[in-house]
Amino acid sequence: MPGIPARSGAGAERPGAKRRERESMSSLLQPQAGDIPHPFPSVVSQPYWDGCARGELLFQRCDECGGITHTPAMICSHCCARALSWERSAGTGSIYSWTTVWRPQTPAFVVPYQPIIVDVDEGFQLLSNLIGCDHDAVHVGMRVAVQFHAIADGTMLPYFGPEHLGLRACRHPTTSRSRTSCTGTRS
Ligand SMILES: [Zn+2]
Repeated sequence: MPGIPARSGAGAERPGAKRRERESMSSLLQPQAGDIPHPFPSVVSQPYWDGCARGELLFQRCDECGGITHTPAMICSHCCARALSWERSAGTGSIYSWTTVWRPQTPAFVVPYQPIIVDVDEGFQLLSNLIGCDHDAVHVGMRVAVQFHAIADGTMLPYFGPEHLGLRACRHPTTSRSRTSCTGTRS
């Protein structure tokens, strides 16, 4: 019937077609370079962010029971001992879970971006973001390796990319102000 769009057949708009069309316009996931929300490190979490600034992913291990505590804390999450020491992670792990964000909470974020929970090989989980691959390449169990990238003020953030790309410590050509920030990790 003239004037009524076809519902099937060649040229018809299928349910979800626009979404798939949008998702097919894939490009590599990139670090966020804008003025995104950032944490304010505490005395407890400052060593973690100092590690990020050096391109090192740090975590705390208990001197009493050997358990790992993350996010940064004053006492062991396993035995409540106060004897926690910082160790450097190898920076590799597997994706435990993920999501894709198309509608960010603030316009400062470039979409899409993919928050991920990483099972870090030393035995703790880290909330971060996936970069360096198409957003439709992500899957549970995907091997990833940490990379560090700076936002506009020079703060270094831990991201993860496909493991075959290797460990990277990258900097944007920005200022060297010391404010720290957080994309994907909690302080
Ligand atoms: Zn302990």
